[in-house]
Amino acid sequence: MTVRETGGPELPQERRIVTALPGPRSQELEQRRRSAVAAGVASSLPAYIVAAGGGILRDADGNQLIDLGSGIAVTTVGNSNPRVVERAKEQLDAFTHTCFMVSPYEGYVEVAEALNRLTPGDHEKRTVLLNSGAEAVENAVKIARVSTGRSAVVVFDHAYHGRTNLTMAMTAKAAPYKRGFGPFAGEVHRAPMSYPYRDDAAAGTKVSGEDAAARATEMIDRQIGADQVAAIVIEPIQGEGGFIVPAEGFLPALAEYSRENGIVFIADEVQAGFGRTGAMFASEHEGVVPDLVATAKGIAGGLPLAAVTGRAEIMDAVGPGGLGGTYGGNPAAVAAALGAIEAYEQDGLVERARELGEILVQRCERLRTRFPEVGDIRGRGAMQAIELVHRDTIEPYPELAKAVAGHAAENAVLVLVTGSFGNVLRFLPPLTISDALLHEAFDVLEEAFAQALG
Ligand SMILES: *Cc1c(COP(=O)(O)O)cnc(C)c1O
Repeated sequence: MTVRETGGPELPQERRIVTALPGPRSQELEQRRRSAVAAGVASSLPAYIVAAGGGILRDADGNQLIDLGSGIAVTTVGNSNPRVVERAKEQLDAFTHTCFMVSPYEGYVEVAEALNRLTPGDHEKRTVLLNSGAEAVENAVKIARVSTGRSAVVVFDHAYHGRTNLTMAMTAKAAPYKRGFGPFAGEVHRAPMSYPYRDDAAAGTKVSGEDAAARATEMIDRQIGADQVAAIVIEPIQGEGGFIVPAEGFLPALAEYSRENGIVFIADEVQAGFGRTGAMFASEHEGVVPDLVATAKGIAGGLPLAAVTGRAEIMDAVGPGGLGGTYGGNPAAVAAALGAIEAYEQDGLVERARELGEILVQRCERLRTRFPEVGDIRGRGAMQAIELVHRDTIEPYPELAKAVAGHAAENAVLVLVTGSFGNVLRFLPPLTISDALLHEAFDVLEEAFAQALG
């Protein structure tokens, strides 16, 4: 099968190992990189990519890797999805930039309309377009502060919201995201998260979502005061924190608490949004309707675009000129987003995310049967992860995650390590991957576990 059947460039859908990975051409490029690119920018696997599509990344040496990362949940509709490419090309031929704040164009308005329609809730909505997930989260906070006249922001343990100054303050993990980069923005308060695997182990019983939410709201009441809080910001499924799915009832209880206290409830759907979890937005799994939704990653098939979408009265609290940015809603990026949205809606991709999720869970369970170091399997749809621990404990086993990802990389399977403890393998395949490739990737992972634990 070539990718033409599923979208993307013509690229044989098979894993190929032509050289040791990374190959000589990639190593040469890596040499050049070391004297040209800042050391602070790291890469998971230094195989330099020349083409990608379906479930395959082809490198400069002709190796073909199975992609379980989608460039961190970005190429959800597949790399170079034809709907994205055609629209973006057409736009590039027409004009590349005007700055929406100077001379507007229709594509921006169309994307805003689409997001207003697609995000949870049928209330009146407005959208602002931006460049990155961090910028979307920052803008959501700005909007919440203006609309409430309050300043405190509540975030959670294990949260990841970005690398700008405000979002670093909101992100939980110190190394490598925060250490040395302070001082950070003020008025950011961290509340306890619902982390079922570890909460239940610590309590020796199942901790309900409501109880976990009460733990968080009691902290807010006691340490901040609900009437001081502009926004509660939460990832409905935490991404970099380790694909933590809060206990059922946690998100609805926080949304309810926000409503009762005039707090803007902000869902950071940057990683979990856009079809990835088997619903258009992860908040939908529990019927949660956030006041504001921050989106990015999967929104435009790989082009840089982000957005804040939410209740008209909150969004419009900011007066003219208060929001924007030179590139926000760039013409090519909005054209790509319209192509990606068309792909989600017309190519059955949300349904495909559920199907892939079933395969992922089944293969993760098989891994757990063979290797008790797989302590937890969690996620939704095509956003799944396994947390690795030392046998018969819940003690994190980051060395194993690293070793498995390393063995997988040598065998042309790209899998990303994440989590607050560095012990989570996350699976984020493009939704255009074939069942066969996904199974093959897990055959390789099983072998990688066997070798690592050998
Ligand atoms: C990646 C991510 C961000 C930051 O997005 P950038 O585009 O890298 O700025 C924010 N929130 C979540 C949940 C993310 O996964």
